[in-house]
Order: sequence, then structure tokens, then C-alpha cells
Amino acid sequence: MAARTDQTTDPRLQEDLLQARRGTAFFARKLNELTDADLDGPSLLPGWTRRHITAHIGYNARAIARLVEWAATGIETPMYSSPEARNQEINFGATLSPIALRNLFDHSAVHLSVEWRDLPEEAWHHEVRTAQGRTVPASETVWMRTREVWIHAIDLNNGATFTDIPTPVLERLLADITGTWHTRGTDTGLRINATGTDLTFGDTNTADPTTITGPLPAVVQWATGRGTTGVTATGPGAAPNRIVPAAPKWI
Ligand code: ZN
Repeated sequence: MAARTDQTTDPRLQEDLLQARRGTAFFARKLNELTDADLDGPSLLPGWTRRHITAHIGYNARAIARLVEWAATGIETPMYSSPEARNQEINFGATLSPIALRNLFDHSAVHLSVEWRDLPEEAWHHEVRTAQGRTVPASETVWMRTREVWIHAIDLNNGATFTDIPTPVLERLLADITGTWHTRGTDTGLRINATGTDLTFGDTNTADPTTITGPLPAVVQWATGRGTTGVTATGPGAAPNRIVPAAPKWI
């Protein structure tokens, strides 16, 4: 008989799985608030309707489930066969009927949750490769999904904001994004200060940095390239009118 609870007993992983499933439930709630006609409306992402967002989230669950299956079986199954195939799939998915789109989201989310639930304790350490070519343990798939469902729920453009995202997820997002900048060397001279936290992000070596300051949700919104509401900039990059510079590219 199949287990009804997660195989893993790692408390950290169980907490991460909870955040992923909460994020999925949040996305589902925002999607369910939209009428079928609303799906044709614009998302917050340039060129994408809400249909594209929904299709992407559905196919993303399938792609991540392939990584979990890879970890379970040892048989290499990449997320997508190519970046072009990924984009074609999204464009195709966006043409589905509303009921088919909603089913795609629902079924793929349940399937991924079951793959996670049934992954044996030791297989969570098995290495898989992401669409960006990073080699990661299977446990990383939980975070990969978490950031997608929370951020794209906002991109559905029907009322969700970064203040809806739980603080631990926001903190991890900011660490993740600024870590990516650091790896690429695109954070030179840029410091990020989330008020109310004791966390420092960005370039800590520069004496006179451009500093982006704001509450954690606003700073993360800026860092993901989704606007400058609620953040201020000081330092050389902000002159002369305290204009907030665009964040470096993340994805
Ligand atoms: Zn995405």
C-alpha cells in the first residue's frame, strides 16, 4: 500500500515541503478567483497572459516531477528537452481551453506532490540537473518549485503581492537572487538592505555602494525585476534624483 505521508523524516525538508505546498495552494486560490474570461487578461510578465502563467506553472510541475523521478530511478530525465521546447510547450498550453488549463495545473501539482511524498529518504540526496545546467540534490527541487508558485501567483495580476509571501520564503529568495548576482559578478557596488532584518545582501566590499533599502517584501519585488515600489536608493548609482536602478537580471 502506498504511503500517505512523506517518506522523508528530515524536519528541514518537511518544512520546505510545507512551504512549497502552501505556495501551490496560494497559487490555486488566486487562479480560482479568476473567471475563464479573466484568463485572457494580461499578467505582470511582458507578453504573457494569465494563460501563459498557468500553463508555465503546470508544465513546471511536470518538469520538476521528472527530476524527482530521475532521483528515484537513476534514469536521466531532464526537465525540458531544450529551452525552445520549454517555450513552445508554454505557448501551446496557453491555447488550451480554460477547463483544460485548470486541469493541467491541478493534475500536475498533485502528481509532483505525490512524487515528493514517495521519494525515499536516501534518494533526496541523489543529484539531478536543472534546466539551467546546475547539478543539485533532489531536495533542491522543493525550493525550485516554491519560488515559482509564490512569485507567479503575484504575476497572475489579480491582487497577490509580495507581502503575501511568508518571511522565510522572502529571505531565501533574496539570498538566492543576490547569490546568483554574486556568482555572475553583476552585484559589484550594489548593496541591499531589507529593513527590519539583520541580513546584509550584495557587495559588502565596496566602500561607497549604491544601497537599495526597503521592507523585505518590497526589496524582493525589486530584486525579481518587478518594480521599485516601496524601495529607495542612495549612493552613486542613485544620483542625481535618487532614482532606483533596475535590479541585475536574475533568471
Ligand atoms: Zn517561472
